[in-house]
Amino acid sequence: MDLFEYQARDIFEKHGVPVLGGVVATTPAEARAGAEQLLGGEPGVVVVKAQVKVGGRGKAGGVKLATSAADAEAKASEILGMDIKGHTVHRVMIAAGAKIAKEYYFSVLLDRAERRCLAMASVEGGMEIEQLAVERPDALAKVAVDPLVGIDQVKADEIVAAAGFDADVAPKVAVVLQRLWDVYKSEDATLVEVNPLVLTEAGDIVALDGKVTLDENAGFRHPDHAELDDAAAADPLEARAKENSLNYVKLDGSVGIIGNGAGLVMSTLDVVAYAGEAHGGVRPANFLDIGGGASAEVMAAGLDIILSDPQVRSVFVNVFGGITACDAVANGIVAALEILGDHATKPLVVRLDGNNVVEGRRILADAAHPLVTLADTMDGGADKAAELANA
Ligand code: GDP
Ligand code: MN
Repeated sequence: MDLFEYQARDIFEKHGVPVLGGVVATTPAEARAGAEQLLGGEPGVVVVKAQVKVGGRGKAGGVKLATSAADAEAKASEILGMDIKGHTVHRVMIAAGAKIAKEYYFSVLLDRAERRCLAMASVEGGMEIEQLAVERPDALAKVAVDPLVGIDQVKADEIVAAAGFDADVAPKVAVVLQRLWDVYKSEDATLVEVNPLVLTEAGDIVALDGKVTLDENAGFRHPDHAELDDAAAADPLEARAKENSLNYVKLDGSVGIIGNGAGLVMSTLDVVAYAGEAHGGVRPANFLDIGGGASAEVMAAGLDIILSDPQVRSVFVNVFGGITACDAVANGIVAALEILGDHATKPLVVRLDGNNVVEGRRILADAAHPLVTLADTMDGGADKAAELANA
C-alpha cells in the first residue's frame, strides 16, 4: 500500500524524523485556515502540495509556494481538481515553507533479487532520481543493508560517506538515516524514500517529501495501518472483491476470468491474451482466483463482480478439480447463475478438468443454461471466450 505524502509525513514525525508542519485541506477555505495556523499571524511562506500517489508533482504544477494565507487559498483552488498523470487532486497539504540550502536524496527499499535491503543516497536530490540514475549513476550511492542489522551508526556512516556528504552535515544526516530505517523496520515498509531531504539555511536536515510503501502482508501487526487505506481511491470492483475475500485484480481487457489457484489463473491470462490475438486483440479483463473450496456462494460472488465490470463481454471459467471436485464446481456454477438471475447477461465459457470431470460436465450439460458453453480444453475455451468477447 502506497501512502500519501501527508501520511508519510505523520509517520516520519512519529519516529523522530525531522519534518515541517503540515495540514491537509480539501477546499481552498480549509487551505487558507491551514496556512493561517502554520503562519501563526506572522508573514512567511507556505507550500501548497497536491496529494496524489504519483511522482513529479512539482514539475506538473502540483507544488506551489504561497506568500500568505490568502495566497495559499488561491494556490489551493488552482491545484485542487487538477489532473496529475491521471490522478485527480482531491486534497492538498499546506506545509510550512523551508529555506532550502541543498537538496539531497535518500531511500531504502526491499531488494528482492538480492534478498536484502538497499539504501540509496545522493547529494544531488530534488530532481527525478530515475533520471539521475541513468545520466549520472556515480552520483547515486547504492549500499546493501543487511535486514537483520539495519541502518545502525556504522551503516549510516558508510552510506553518508559513499554519497559524499560534506563533513559538516554528514553526522546530522547519519542520525536522520537511522530514524528513517526505524520507520522502514517498525512500520513494515518495503520502501521509504525522501526526495528531497534538505539542508536548510539554518543548517537543519529536514525530510521535505516522503514516499512510503507499507507491506500489506504485515497488516496484522499494524491495526493502525488499516485507516491509511484509501478506500475511495481503490478500484470499486477490487474493493468489493476484498469485502468478499476474493483475490481479484482489475485489468483492462474484455474477457472476464475465473479460475482456481493463482498459477492456473495466471496461465489462463496468458492463454486468453494469446488466443485474443486472433480475435481483434481482445485481452483478459481481470485476475480472479476463487481458491480451492469453490462453493456456489464464492462462485456467485466472483461472477457477480466480473459481470458488473462494464468492460467485460464474455467470461472464461477455467477450473481444475482437485480437492474440490468438478461436480461440486459445476453445481456451484449452476447455483451461481440461479442466484444471479437477470444479473447474468454475458456468455460464459466453462472448461472443467481433473477430479470427477465427467460428472461435472454432465451437470452443466443437463442444466443447459443458455449463456453457458462447455469447452473441452483450456486453449479451446480461451479461443471461444475471446471470440465471444469480439462478437
Ligand atoms: P515532487 O515533485 O512530487 O517530488 O514534490 P516535492 O515535494 O519533492 O517538491 C518538489 C520541489 O519543490 C522540491 O524539490 C523543492 O525544490 C520544492 N519545494 C518543496 N517544498 C518546498 C519548500 O518548503 N520551500 C521551497 N523553497 N521549496 C520547496
Ligand atoms: Mn519529491
